[in-house]
Amino acid sequence: MTEQIEITAAADLHTHTVASTHGYSTINENAAAAKARGMKLLAVTDHGPAMPDAPHLWHFHNYKVLPREIDGVAMLYGVEANIIDENGTLDMDAKELRFCEWVIASYHTQCVQFPRTPELVTQGYRKVCENPDVDVIGHPTTAFFPFEYEPVLKLFKEAGKLVEINESSLRWKPGALENAKTVYALCKKHEIPIVLNTDAHYAGLIGKTPLASQLLLDLDFPKKLIVNLDAARIAELAAAKRGITF
Ligand SMILES: [Zn+2]
Ligand SMILES: [Zn+2]
Repeated sequence: MTEQIEITAAADLHTHTVASTHGYSTINENAAAAKARGMKLLAVTDHGPAMPDAPHLWHFHNYKVLPREIDGVAMLYGVEANIIDENGTLDMDAKELRFCEWVIASYHTQCVQFPRTPELVTQGYRKVCENPDVDVIGHPTTAFFPFEYEPVLKLFKEAGKLVEINESSLRWKPGALENAKTVYALCKKHEIPIVLNTDAHYAGLIGKTPLASQLLLDLDFPKKLIVNLDAARIAELAAAKRGITF
């Protein structure tokens, strides 16, 4: 019997701020919350421009003014981009994504027709795998966006895309928890690396992942496959891919 303690990430790699109006905290408030929870690294990932209340593209272009570290927390400035069609097109092209240091690609009901057939969602994900800018596949558990789980998850691994387990989706999206049991069991079976994120839209939620943690414990999910349990592994990825040093 494994010890039933909560699994906590050292890096929260999916968080929102007031830059999207349905987010309620600032970058500094989020960084302070991360620090208070003993986290070492935080990625700011506001919504891409297809989301109705997303920040203007200039929000991303001006990331250069922000500090690499806030009160001891290493910072990455990125985006949660939207997959907007079956060609895997994102709502920011390569020219715009070069300003971003961490890129999540997600399906959202606000940004693409839904519900979608598994064929269409799969086709989109296959194309996203060809996009070198994408680091993470965001919340692949949404009921409106089913896909051919096993082959596509294996493809994410081959393409070097990290698969997210997303606390907010498990908590608030109908059907996500059921889908998640399938998705992360397959990730375990095929040794597919994942990241454990909050998708916090409020500072008080940074770093808190009780549902995701419980699901991973129930699956006896190998800790070595949860990449952001160790912030150094994320720093290594950031250094290798984008030359970022902390
Ligand atoms: Zn949001
Ligand atoms: Zn999302």
